[in-house]
Amino acid sequence: MFFPHQAATAPRIPSTRLALHHFDTSYSLHLGALWPSVRAGLLCEQKYGALLNNFAAADHVPEELELLNATDFISEALQKVQQWQRGVAVGEAATGCQEGSGEGRTGMQAEIVAQAEMSPPLCTSISSKIKCYTFPRGDITRFRPARPDGLGLLDYYLMDAASLLPVLALDVQPDEFVLDLCAAPGGKTLALLQTGFCGHLAANDVSVSRTKRLYQILQSYVPKEVRDTVSVTSYDGRDWDQVKGGTFHKVLVDVPCTTDRHSAMEEDNNIFHRRRTKERQMLPMLQLQLLMAGILAARPGGAVLYSTCSLSPLQNECVVERALDVARAQFNISIHPEDLSHFRTLFQDTFSFFSECRLGELVLPHLTANFGPMYFCKLRRE
Ligand code: SAM
Repeated sequence: MFFPHQAATAPRIPSTRLALHHFDTSYSLHLGALWPSVRAGLLCEQKYGALLNNFAAADHVPEELELLNATDFISEALQKVQQWQRGVAVGEAATGCQEGSGEGRTGMQAEIVAQAEMSPPLCTSISSKIKCYTFPRGDITRFRPARPDGLGLLDYYLMDAASLLPVLALDVQPDEFVLDLCAAPGGKTLALLQTGFCGHLAANDVSVSRTKRLYQILQSYVPKEVRDTVSVTSYDGRDWDQVKGGTFHKVLVDVPCTTDRHSAMEEDNNIFHRRRTKERQMLPMLQLQLLMAGILAARPGGAVLYSTCSLSPLQNECVVERALDVARAQFNISIHPEDLSHFRTLFQDTFSFFSECRLGELVLPHLTANFGPMYFCKLRRE
Protein backbone atom coordinates (compact mmCIF):
# COMPACT_ATOMS: atom_id res chain seq x y z
CA MET A 1 0.00 0.00 0.00
CA PHE A 2 1.21 3.55 -0.78
CA PHE A 3 1.30 6.15 2.01
CA PRO A 4 2.02 9.61 0.56
CA HIS A 5 3.24 10.97 3.93
CA GLN A 6 5.87 8.21 4.02
CA ALA A 7 7.09 9.04 0.52
CA ALA A 8 7.47 12.67 1.60
CA THR A 9 9.55 11.76 4.63
CA ALA A 10 11.56 8.92 3.04
CA PRO A 11 15.28 9.42 3.62
CA ARG A 12 16.76 11.49 0.81
CA ILE A 13 19.62 9.93 -1.13
CA PRO A 14 22.62 12.20 -0.62
CA SER A 15 23.61 14.15 -3.72
CA THR A 16 27.21 12.95 -3.34
CA ARG A 17 25.95 9.36 -3.65
CA LEU A 18 23.94 10.22 -6.75
CA ALA A 19 27.03 11.89 -8.20
CA LEU A 20 29.25 8.88 -7.51
CA HIS A 21 26.69 6.52 -8.97
CA HIS A 22 26.56 8.65 -12.11
CA PHE A 23 30.38 8.82 -12.29
CA ASP A 24 30.75 5.05 -11.74
CA THR A 25 28.41 4.39 -14.64
CA SER A 26 29.82 6.84 -17.16
CA TYR A 27 33.50 7.28 -16.22
CA SER A 28 34.22 3.57 -15.86
CA LEU A 29 33.32 3.35 -19.56
CA HIS A 30 35.29 6.44 -20.54
CA LEU A 31 38.42 5.93 -18.41
CA GLY A 32 38.34 2.12 -18.26
CA ALA A 33 40.97 0.66 -15.94
CA LEU A 34 42.03 4.14 -14.80
CA TRP A 35 38.67 4.90 -13.16
CA PRO A 36 39.23 3.17 -9.75
CA SER A 37 42.38 5.21 -9.07
CA VAL A 38 40.78 8.44 -10.35
CA ARG A 39 37.77 7.72 -8.11
CA ALA A 40 40.04 7.25 -5.09
CA GLY A 41 41.70 10.59 -5.91
CA LEU A 42 38.34 12.37 -6.15
CA LEU A 43 37.37 11.06 -2.71
CA CYS A 44 40.60 12.13 -0.99
CA GLU A 45 41.94 15.52 0.00
CA GLN A 46 42.97 17.51 -3.05
CA LYS A 47 46.39 19.09 -3.42
CA TYR A 48 46.93 22.81 -3.74
CA GLY A 49 49.50 24.96 -5.41
CA ALA A 50 50.65 28.36 -4.13
CA LEU A 51 50.41 30.91 -6.94
CA LEU A 52 52.98 33.58 -6.02
CA ASN A 53 51.65 37.10 -6.02
CA ASN A 54 54.13 39.16 -8.07
CA PHE A 55 52.43 42.35 -6.86
CA ALA A 56 53.25 41.67 -3.18
CA ALA A 57 56.57 42.54 -1.56
CA ALA A 58 57.28 38.92 -0.66
CA ASP A 59 60.80 38.15 -1.92
CA HIS A 60 61.38 35.78 1.01
CA VAL A 61 58.48 33.46 0.06
CA PRO A 62 60.24 31.32 -2.62
CA GLU A 63 63.07 30.59 -0.18
CA GLU A 64 60.59 29.79 2.61
CA LEU A 65 58.69 27.36 0.34
CA GLU A 66 61.84 25.75 -1.05
CA LEU A 67 62.99 25.02 2.52
CA LEU A 68 59.77 23.01 2.87
CA ASN A 69 60.69 21.07 -0.30
CA ALA A 70 58.10 22.78 -2.51
CA THR A 71 59.16 23.79 -6.04
CA ASP A 72 57.80 26.08 -8.73
CA PHE A 73 56.48 23.46 -11.15
CA ILE A 74 56.50 25.91 -14.07
CA SER A 75 60.14 26.99 -13.85
CA GLU A 76 61.03 23.35 -13.21
CA ALA A 77 59.45 22.47 -16.57
CA LEU A 78 61.42 25.30 -18.20
CA GLN A 79 64.66 23.95 -16.74
CA LYS A 80 63.76 20.53 -18.12
CA VAL A 81 63.32 22.03 -21.60
CA GLN A 82 66.74 23.66 -21.32
CA GLN A 83 68.28 20.37 -20.20
CA TRP A 84 66.67 18.55 -23.12
CA GLN A 85 67.97 21.18 -25.50
CA ARG A 86 71.48 20.96 -24.00
CA GLY A 87 71.16 17.15 -24.14
CA VAL A 88 70.32 17.38 -27.83
CA ALA A 89 73.31 19.63 -28.51
CA VAL A 90 75.68 17.44 -26.47
CA GLY A 91 74.22 14.24 -27.94
CA GLU A 92 74.58 15.54 -31.46
CA ALA A 93 78.13 16.72 -30.87
CA ALA A 94 79.02 13.30 -29.39
CA THR A 95 77.47 11.32 -32.23
CA GLY A 96 78.52 13.79 -34.89
CA CYS A 97 74.98 13.96 -36.23
CA GLN A 98 73.74 17.24 -37.70
CA GLU A 99 70.89 19.25 -36.25
CA GLY A 100 67.75 18.47 -38.22
CA SER A 101 69.06 15.12 -39.45
CA GLY A 102 67.90 11.97 -37.74
CA GLU A 103 70.95 10.01 -38.76
CA GLY A 104 72.93 8.24 -36.06
CA ARG A 105 70.49 9.03 -33.18
CA THR A 106 69.80 6.42 -30.56
CA GLY A 107 66.17 5.87 -29.44
CA MET A 108 66.81 7.97 -26.33
CA GLN A 109 68.36 10.81 -28.34
CA ALA A 110 65.44 10.74 -30.77
CA GLU A 111 63.02 11.11 -27.84
CA ILE A 112 65.02 14.00 -26.41
CA VAL A 113 65.03 15.72 -29.81
CA ALA A 114 61.29 15.18 -30.23
CA GLN A 115 60.60 16.61 -26.75
CA ALA A 116 62.90 19.60 -27.28
CA GLU A 117 61.30 20.37 -30.63
CA MET A 118 57.85 20.28 -29.08
CA SER A 119 58.61 22.79 -26.39
CA PRO A 120 59.11 26.26 -27.97
CA PRO A 121 55.43 27.29 -27.70
CA LEU A 122 55.54 26.56 -24.01
CA CYS A 123 58.76 28.52 -23.42
CA THR A 124 56.89 31.71 -24.31
CA SER A 125 54.21 31.08 -21.73
CA ILE A 126 56.73 30.00 -19.12
CA SER A 127 58.52 33.32 -19.47
CA SER A 128 55.24 34.95 -18.50
CA LYS A 129 56.24 35.23 -14.83
CA ILE A 130 53.57 32.92 -13.43
CA LYS A 131 55.09 31.02 -10.52
CA CYS A 132 53.28 28.27 -8.66
CA TYR A 133 54.80 26.16 -5.90
CA THR A 134 53.68 22.58 -5.33
CA PHE A 135 54.91 19.79 -3.08
CA PRO A 136 56.41 16.75 -4.82
CA ARG A 137 54.36 13.74 -5.88
CA GLY A 138 53.17 11.78 -2.85
CA ASP A 139 53.90 14.68 -0.45
CA ILE A 140 50.62 15.92 1.04
CA THR A 141 52.03 18.76 3.14
CA ARG A 142 49.61 21.70 3.36
CA PHE A 143 50.61 25.30 2.69
CA ARG A 144 50.24 27.83 5.49
CA PRO A 145 47.51 30.43 4.89
CA ALA A 146 48.53 33.45 2.80
CA ARG A 147 50.03 36.43 4.65
CA PRO A 148 49.82 40.16 3.88
CA ASP A 149 52.87 42.27 3.01
CA GLY A 150 53.46 45.76 4.43
CA LEU A 151 50.78 47.23 2.13
CA GLY A 152 48.26 44.50 2.90
CA LEU A 153 48.65 42.50 -0.37
CA LEU A 154 48.63 38.72 0.21
CA ASP A 155 51.79 36.80 -0.71
CA TYR A 156 50.21 33.84 -2.50
CA TYR A 157 46.90 32.40 -3.64
CA LEU A 158 46.11 28.75 -2.91
CA MET A 159 44.42 26.99 -5.81
CA ASP A 160 44.30 23.70 -7.67
CA ALA A 161 47.61 23.94 -9.55
CA ALA A 162 45.99 22.26 -12.59
CA SER A 163 43.82 25.40 -12.94
CA LEU A 164 46.92 27.24 -14.11
CA LEU A 165 47.33 25.03 -17.18
CA PRO A 166 44.48 26.75 -19.12
CA VAL A 167 46.05 30.13 -18.31
CA LEU A 168 49.51 28.97 -19.44
CA ALA A 169 47.98 27.50 -22.60
CA LEU A 170 46.29 30.82 -23.39
CA ASP A 171 49.82 32.26 -23.63
CA VAL A 172 48.99 35.97 -23.20
CA GLN A 173 51.42 38.26 -25.02
CA PRO A 174 52.32 41.87 -24.10
CA ASP A 175 49.45 44.39 -24.30
CA GLU A 176 46.85 41.88 -25.45
CA PHE A 177 43.15 42.40 -24.75
CA VAL A 178 41.91 39.46 -22.70
CA LEU A 179 38.38 38.36 -21.81
CA ASP A 180 37.66 36.02 -18.89
CA LEU A 181 34.01 35.21 -19.65
CA CYS A 182 33.15 33.17 -16.52
CA ALA A 183 35.63 34.67 -14.11
CA ALA A 184 34.38 34.31 -10.53
CA PRO A 185 35.65 33.68 -7.92
CA GLY A 186 38.76 34.80 -9.80
CA GLY A 187 41.66 32.32 -9.46
CA LYS A 188 42.38 32.32 -13.18
CA THR A 189 41.77 36.08 -13.44
CA LEU A 190 44.49 36.57 -10.83
CA ALA A 191 46.81 34.20 -12.73
CA LEU A 192 46.16 36.13 -15.97
CA LEU A 193 47.18 39.33 -14.18
CA GLN A 194 50.37 37.71 -12.87
CA THR A 195 51.64 37.50 -16.47
CA GLY A 196 51.92 41.32 -16.39
CA PHE A 197 50.93 41.21 -20.07
CA CYS A 198 47.20 42.02 -20.15
CA GLY A 199 46.76 45.36 -21.93
CA HIS A 200 43.18 45.20 -20.77
CA LEU A 201 41.39 42.45 -18.89
CA ALA A 202 37.60 42.09 -18.97
CA ALA A 203 36.45 39.79 -16.15
CA ASN A 204 32.80 38.81 -16.37
CA ASP A 205 30.53 36.50 -14.37
CA VAL A 206 26.75 36.29 -14.38
CA SER A 207 26.59 35.72 -10.63
CA VAL A 208 26.58 38.96 -8.67
CA SER A 209 27.45 37.22 -5.39
CA ARG A 210 30.40 35.39 -6.96
CA THR A 211 31.49 38.61 -8.65
CA LYS A 212 31.78 40.09 -5.15
CA ARG A 213 34.34 37.38 -4.33
CA LEU A 214 36.21 38.33 -7.50
CA TYR A 215 36.34 41.95 -6.30
CA GLN A 216 37.64 40.73 -2.93
CA ILE A 217 40.43 38.73 -4.60
CA LEU A 218 41.42 41.71 -6.73
CA GLN A 219 41.40 43.90 -3.62
CA SER A 220 43.53 41.44 -1.61
CA TYR A 221 46.13 40.66 -4.29
CA VAL A 222 46.33 43.45 -6.87
CA PRO A 223 47.44 47.08 -6.45
CA LYS A 224 45.01 49.82 -7.46
CA GLU A 225 46.88 50.87 -10.63
CA VAL A 226 46.61 47.30 -11.97
CA ARG A 227 43.00 46.88 -10.78
CA ASP A 228 42.18 49.93 -12.86
CA THR A 229 43.09 47.97 -16.02
CA VAL A 230 40.46 45.32 -15.17
CA SER A 231 36.77 45.83 -15.96
CA VAL A 232 34.47 43.61 -13.94
CA THR A 233 30.95 42.97 -15.28
CA SER A 234 28.02 40.70 -14.49
CA TYR A 235 26.51 39.96 -17.89
CA ASP A 236 25.10 36.64 -18.98
CA GLY A 237 28.16 35.51 -20.96
CA ARG A 238 25.92 34.10 -23.68
CA ASP A 239 25.04 37.68 -24.65
CA TRP A 240 28.62 38.92 -24.75
CA ASP A 241 28.62 39.27 -28.53
CA GLN A 242 25.97 41.99 -28.22
CA VAL A 243 28.35 43.93 -25.95
CA LYS A 244 31.79 43.68 -27.56
CA GLY A 245 32.15 41.12 -30.34
CA GLY A 246 35.37 40.28 -32.18
CA THR A 247 37.71 42.46 -30.12
CA PHE A 248 39.82 40.21 -27.89
CA HIS A 249 43.20 38.63 -28.63
CA LYS A 250 42.62 35.96 -25.99
CA VAL A 251 39.41 34.62 -24.43
CA LEU A 252 39.12 32.26 -21.48
CA VAL A 253 35.83 30.32 -21.27
CA ASP A 254 36.02 28.46 -17.94
CA VAL A 255 32.45 27.20 -17.92
CA PRO A 256 30.12 26.05 -15.14
CA CYS A 257 30.22 22.24 -15.07
CA THR A 258 29.46 19.30 -12.78
CA THR A 259 32.59 20.23 -10.71
CA ASP A 260 33.22 16.52 -10.20
CA ARG A 261 35.43 16.75 -7.11
CA HIS A 262 32.94 19.00 -5.32
CA SER A 263 29.97 16.84 -6.42
CA ALA A 264 31.61 13.67 -5.10
CA MET A 265 32.46 15.20 -1.71
CA GLU A 266 30.14 18.06 -0.70
CA GLU A 267 26.37 18.09 -0.16
CA ASP A 268 26.26 21.88 -0.16
CA ASN A 269 25.44 23.42 -3.56
CA ASN A 270 25.65 20.01 -5.24
CA ILE A 271 24.45 19.93 -8.86
CA PHE A 272 23.45 16.27 -8.46
CA HIS A 273 20.70 17.27 -6.00
CA ARG A 274 17.45 15.91 -7.43
CA ARG A 275 16.04 19.44 -7.57
CA ARG A 276 18.82 20.40 -10.00
CA THR A 277 18.46 17.50 -12.45
CA LYS A 278 17.16 19.71 -15.26
CA GLU A 279 19.92 22.29 -14.69
CA ARG A 280 22.53 19.52 -14.82
CA GLN A 281 21.10 18.03 -17.99
CA MET A 282 21.16 21.47 -19.63
CA LEU A 283 24.85 22.07 -18.78
CA PRO A 284 26.30 20.95 -22.15
CA MET A 285 23.91 23.36 -23.92
CA LEU A 286 24.91 26.25 -21.62
CA GLN A 287 28.59 25.35 -22.10
CA LEU A 288 28.18 25.33 -25.89
CA GLN A 289 26.44 28.72 -25.83
CA LEU A 290 29.19 30.20 -23.64
CA LEU A 291 31.93 28.75 -25.85
CA MET A 292 30.21 30.17 -28.94
CA ALA A 293 30.02 33.59 -27.25
CA GLY A 294 33.76 33.29 -26.47
CA ILE A 295 34.54 32.41 -30.08
CA LEU A 296 32.54 35.40 -31.32
CA ALA A 297 34.28 37.67 -28.80
CA ALA A 298 37.72 36.72 -30.17
CA ARG A 299 39.14 38.73 -33.05
CA PRO A 300 40.22 36.87 -36.20
CA GLY A 301 43.56 35.22 -35.39
CA GLY A 302 42.73 35.28 -31.69
CA ALA A 303 42.62 32.27 -29.39
CA VAL A 304 39.91 30.83 -27.15
CA LEU A 305 40.61 28.51 -24.25
CA TYR A 306 37.73 26.27 -23.15
CA SER A 307 38.03 24.60 -19.76
CA THR A 308 36.02 22.60 -17.21
CA CYS A 309 36.80 20.80 -13.97
CA SER A 310 34.84 17.72 -15.06
CA LEU A 311 35.92 14.37 -16.50
CA SER A 312 32.80 14.16 -18.65
CA PRO A 313 33.44 13.89 -22.40
CA LEU A 314 29.90 15.28 -22.90
CA GLN A 315 30.99 18.51 -21.21
CA ASN A 316 34.50 18.47 -22.70
CA GLU A 317 35.34 17.18 -26.20
CA CYS A 318 31.69 16.95 -27.32
CA VAL A 319 31.04 20.62 -26.53
CA VAL A 320 34.18 21.66 -28.43
CA GLU A 321 33.32 19.48 -31.42
CA ARG A 322 29.79 20.87 -31.53
CA ALA A 323 31.12 24.46 -31.31
CA LEU A 324 33.42 23.86 -34.29
CA ASP A 325 30.39 22.68 -36.31
CA VAL A 326 28.16 25.57 -35.21
CA ALA A 327 30.90 28.17 -35.89
CA ARG A 328 31.32 26.86 -39.42
CA ALA A 329 27.65 26.22 -40.27
CA GLN A 330 25.99 29.24 -38.62
CA PHE A 331 28.72 31.91 -38.60
CA ASN A 332 31.04 30.82 -41.41
CA ILE A 333 33.96 30.97 -38.95
CA SER A 334 36.78 28.43 -39.17
CA ILE A 335 38.25 27.34 -35.87
CA HIS A 336 41.35 25.19 -35.43
CA PRO A 337 42.02 23.20 -32.27
CA GLU A 338 45.69 23.60 -31.24
CA ASP A 339 47.87 20.70 -30.20
CA LEU A 340 48.74 20.97 -26.49
CA SER A 341 50.25 17.49 -26.13
CA HIS A 342 53.63 19.03 -25.17
CA PHE A 343 51.95 20.05 -21.87
CA ARG A 344 51.69 16.35 -21.07
CA THR A 345 55.42 15.83 -21.57
CA LEU A 346 56.47 18.98 -19.76
CA PHE A 347 54.24 18.71 -16.70
CA GLN A 348 54.20 14.93 -16.28
CA ASP A 349 56.19 15.16 -13.02
CA THR A 350 53.47 17.30 -11.43
CA PHE A 351 50.19 16.06 -12.94
CA SER A 352 48.63 12.82 -14.18
CA PHE A 353 47.28 13.32 -17.68
CA PHE A 354 44.77 11.25 -19.63
CA SER A 355 46.46 10.36 -22.89
CA GLU A 356 43.34 9.54 -24.89
CA CYS A 357 41.37 12.77 -25.26
CA ARG A 358 40.12 13.21 -28.82
CA LEU A 359 40.64 16.96 -28.45
CA GLY A 360 42.39 18.98 -25.72
CA GLU A 361 44.07 17.73 -22.55
CA LEU A 362 42.70 16.34 -19.28
CA VAL A 363 44.38 16.23 -15.86
CA LEU A 364 43.22 13.21 -13.87
CA PRO A 365 43.12 13.14 -10.06
CA HIS A 366 45.60 10.62 -8.65
CA LEU A 367 46.47 9.81 -5.04
CA THR A 368 50.11 10.82 -5.56
CA ALA A 369 49.27 13.99 -7.52
CA ASN A 370 45.79 14.88 -6.43
CA PHE A 371 45.06 17.83 -8.71
CA GLY A 372 42.20 18.25 -11.16
CA PRO A 373 40.08 17.16 -12.85
CA MET A 374 40.89 19.89 -15.35
CA TYR A 375 40.03 19.75 -19.03
CA PHE A 376 41.37 22.41 -21.40
CA CYS A 377 41.29 22.87 -25.14
CA LYS A 378 42.75 25.77 -27.15
CA LEU A 379 41.00 26.98 -30.31
CA ARG A 380 42.37 29.43 -32.87
CA ARG A 381 39.87 31.60 -34.78
CA GLU A 382 40.74 32.19 -38.44
N1 SAM B 1 37.18 30.96 -13.76
C1 SAM B 1 36.80 30.90 -12.36
C2 SAM B 1 38.05 30.80 -11.52
O1 SAM B 1 39.09 30.35 -12.00
O2 SAM B 1 37.96 31.18 -10.34
C3 SAM B 1 35.87 29.74 -12.10
C4 SAM B 1 34.64 29.78 -12.97
S1 SAM B 1 33.41 28.62 -12.49
C5 SAM B 1 34.07 27.14 -13.11
C6 SAM B 1 32.13 28.96 -13.61
C7 SAM B 1 31.49 30.32 -13.42
O3 SAM B 1 30.58 30.53 -14.49
C8 SAM B 1 30.69 30.51 -12.15
O4 SAM B 1 31.25 31.54 -11.37
C9 SAM B 1 29.30 30.92 -12.63
O5 SAM B 1 28.72 31.95 -11.86
C10 SAM B 1 29.59 31.42 -14.02
N2 SAM B 1 28.46 31.37 -14.96
C11 SAM B 1 27.45 30.48 -15.03
N3 SAM B 1 26.62 30.79 -16.03
C12 SAM B 1 27.13 31.88 -16.63
C13 SAM B 1 26.71 32.70 -17.71
N4 SAM B 1 25.60 32.42 -18.39
N5 SAM B 1 27.46 33.76 -18.05
C14 SAM B 1 28.58 34.05 -17.35
N6 SAM B 1 29.02 33.34 -16.30
C15 SAM B 1 28.30 32.26 -15.95
